[in-house]
Amino acid sequence: MATDENCIFCKIIAGKIPSRKFIETDKAYAFLDIGPTAPGHSLIIPKYHAAKFHELPDDTLSDILPVAKKIALATGATDYNLLQNNGRIAHQVVDHVHFHVIPKPNEEQGLV
Ligand code: 5GP
Ligand code: ZN
Repeated sequence: MATDENCIFCKIIAGKIPSRKFIETDKAYAFLDIGPTAPGHSLIIPKYHAAKFHELPDDTLSDILPVAKKIALATGATDYNLLQNNGRIAHQVVDHVHFHVIPKPNEEQGLV
């Protein structure tokens, strides 16, 4: 498994930095974003370290979308963004591939 000892998300996977974990599988790890843009804002990461999406071997990706789906359901939000940034111009800050699940609660949920 590729890891980078200087990577903040590799440290989270290894338990060296605390996180609010939702789900962990052999290949993926999901946790709350430390700076949520909405309640429930979560991140899903492959355990394999790669900076950008296209660098990931195919077999490291199989758990990502099923876990993202579980997280999206768990937030209870009917509307949400699932997004993933690659490179500084595309607003990537942490160089370990991550998918954001960002709930967009509606007025009935009281959190617009
Ligand atoms: P990016 O802009 O790279 O797509 O998003 C990086 C995300 O990682 C940001 O939303 C930021 O709040 C989150 N983040 C950065 N450092 C940490 C951390 O140490 N723990 C957690 N839980 N989230 C982090
Ligand atoms: Zn990493």
